[in-house]
Amino acid sequence: MTRTDSDSWDLASSVGATATMVAAARALASAEPDAIIDDPYAAGLVREVGIDFFTRLVDGDFTAPDDATGQGIRLMTDVMAVRTRFFDDFFLDAGRAGVHQVVILASGLDARAYRLGWPAGTVVYEIDQPQVIAAKAAAMAKLGASPTAELRTVAVDLREDWPNALRDTGFDVGAPSAWSVEGLLMYLPPEAQDRLFDNITALSAPGSRIATEFHSGDFGATLAARTENIAKAWQGEGFDLDFSTLFYPGERNHVVEYLGERGWQVHSRNRLDVFAGYGRTWPIDHDAVPLQDSVAVTAIRI
Ligand code: SAM
Repeated sequence: MTRTDSDSWDLASSVGATATMVAAARALASAEPDAIIDDPYAAGLVREVGIDFFTRLVDGDFTAPDDATGQGIRLMTDVMAVRTRFFDDFFLDAGRAGVHQVVILASGLDARAYRLGWPAGTVVYEIDQPQVIAAKAAAMAKLGASPTAELRTVAVDLREDWPNALRDTGFDVGAPSAWSVEGLLMYLPPEAQDRLFDNITALSAPGSRIATEFHSGDFGATLAARTENIAKAWQGEGFDLDFSTLFYPGERNHVVEYLGERGWQVHSRNRLDVFAGYGRTWPIDHDAVPLQDSVAVTAIRI
């Protein structure tokens, strides 16, 4: 599948299906005996989308073989457990520090607005493409879920004028905010990544916070090369999307430096360290090695 400047999707197609894929991983990670996350909505949301492969996975109706299929599921589950916990902790810390305005960019099937214990008065903005926002709202309603903060959704493409759409929904540029950029950068062209951080910076009052993950070099190409086998194996199981073709290749500006030059105090930790911090070990199989160079980034606007 070739990406285009104005492509769009729902939760079962193209980039939208990756939101369902990572929600399936959160469901599996939440069910582990030594779970480090608890997402009680993930499995139900995956069932509502109805991609057969992921539904079978979360229902325990698929026994992963010990090949590329199974290794891909294992890696995805571990990565999502650690990633989810990292962003959960980021938002909980921000709340404790008195930041009560939250923006979840590319929210997909993220259930934080429904499952985290937000301080009273918190407003959570979720931004994603219109079909994704609508389908998730319908699925959450069907599951009987209620937000644990005031939830405002912003249905807009992040390559368009999303800052205006966010302000129109009531976002206060004068108050500090906490932003997550999770599972998004590789689906944006390198220059759109820069624009995204420029826009966030312009909307961030002093004391605002941001969390993201970043892989230096040509991450889109690295990820495509490393996920090709997994995508092919899953196609054999009926998930008819080669998700390794969805990433934008090209050298990117390094997020740590980019934010640092724009008035953010940046802190980063490498992936092995973040895994170890949550009691997890990064797998040593050769397909996973190039992916270990990712860093978990948090920053505070000075
Ligand atoms: N952040 C969520 C999570 O971690 O569960 C979803 C991650 S999913 C891998 C990628 C998400 O990015 C999808 O929900 C997709 O719709 C969203 N996305 C990618 N490009 C986008 C764009 N240009 N505009 C709006 N949303 C976008």
